[in-house]
Amino acid sequence: MDFSVSPETQKLLARVREFVSQELYPIEAIDQGKSFRELIPLLHEKRELLRKQGMWLPQVPREHGGMGLGFLEHAMVSEELGKSPYGHYVFGAQAPDAGNIEILIEFGTAEQQQCWLQPLLAGEIRSCFSMTEPGRPGSNPVWMDTSAVREGGDYVINGHKWFTTAADGAAFAIVMAVTDPDAPPHKRASQIIVPTDAPGFQLVRNIPCMGHEGDDWLSHGEVKYENVRVPVANCIGAEGAGFAIAQARLGAGRIHHCMRWIGIAERSLDLLCRHAATREIAPGEVLASRQTVQNWIAESRAEIDAARLMVLNAAWKIDKVGTRDARIEISTIKFCTAKAMLDTVDRAIQVHGSLGISDDTVLQNFYRNERSARIYDGPDEVHKRVVARQMLKSYGYDLR
Ligand SMILES: Cc1cc2nc3c(=O)[nH]c(=O)nc-3n(C[C@H](O)[C@H](O)[C@H](O)COP(=O)(O)OP(=O)(O)OC[C@H]3O[C@@H](n4cnc5c(N)ncnc54)[C@H](O)[C@@H]3O)c2cc1C
Repeated sequence: MDFSVSPETQKLLARVREFVSQELYPIEAIDQGKSFRELIPLLHEKRELLRKQGMWLPQVPREHGGMGLGFLEHAMVSEELGKSPYGHYVFGAQAPDAGNIEILIEFGTAEQQQCWLQPLLAGEIRSCFSMTEPGRPGSNPVWMDTSAVREGGDYVINGHKWFTTAADGAAFAIVMAVTDPDAPPHKRASQIIVPTDAPGFQLVRNIPCMGHEGDDWLSHGEVKYENVRVPVANCIGAEGAGFAIAQARLGAGRIHHCMRWIGIAERSLDLLCRHAATREIAPGEVLASRQTVQNWIAESRAEIDAARLMVLNAAWKIDKVGTRDARIEISTIKFCTAKAMLDTVDRAIQVHGSLGISDDTVLQNFYRNERSARIYDGPDEVHKRVVARQMLKSYGYDLR
């Protein structure tokens, strides 16, 4: 296992760190009370600045206009980007577009790539990924109601989805729909491109979450598909390969999310320490003099470092043996990193007192938007079951 960082990567990380702290942290002082749409002109100005510096799409191969970083390098960049709520968006590495870009590069036809991938790479459009349904458990993704029925050269799609992140303003959705209800569970569904201006596509609402409705990229949509008709050519990969494609994007997606969370944890710990070292709780006595605070600092330091090493180890293992054989590592980092991040954000808020609850620091943003880390991409309990199942197999117990 080799996590050494080349001098070039160190230089790149320093450039990214500087850009994020100098150009993106200041946005936090003006974003309160503003919709995401109101911030877009400013965020796109930052994108232009970035592109002039040759930093755009860190996760995308060079032949597609990206920076062509390796898996581990991009994981490290992702940590730096995670320190600002706008890092991934400004660099073009935001979910769900990053995952959709990856799918279209790997599985898209030439026509799909020209029509959807090219403008996505250029940052001219956005996309969304529409799988979870209100009436079915997202934690059991093979059980879904949305159907795509062939009629001539078209699919006719009917279904009800929700938590389709960034559906508001997206040009297209990649929809997971059942194309063969009689096939084995993992071969029933396909991923199908649906333009959001197709008749029958209806964004019902942006679902208010933690008191915020959100908008544009920063939103989670409830979407109805009512007799939406798209050409069969919009199916990505083979019909019935929806889950296999979802699995293929899983490993990389998990690493990027986890490293983003480590960035959030690092930023929160930095804010915690700064506040603890300066906030006087009695004349001449700062918070950092209290052992409870010292314990929190030490615990967060240890938990973040442990999580980072686990994530890098998982990335290394995916590179060596592929996603399937790295299942334990992929599931372990999901719940461990989410916990390390959320515990650190919570400690940082506690140390800030009422200031931590206020909108005057970025901590409330992390607290509000990142609690979901323990739910999306598989809830904690599902990942713990995956780990236990794999572990128990070698003891002769098959956890079905
Ligand atoms: C912020 C956010 C963004 C999202 N973005 C998207 C998106 O872009 N596209 C999309 O399609 N979906 C998205 N989702 C949906 C997400 O993938 C699902 O919420 C997730 O898969 C869980 O499904 P569920 O909400 O239906 O919960 P359920 O499946 O109903 O589970 C509810 C709870 O039950 C428990 N549980 C479930 N299974 C087990 C088990 N086997 N053992 C023990 N306990 C269990 C867990 O605690 C879980 O939290 C997003 C969700 C959030 C919160």
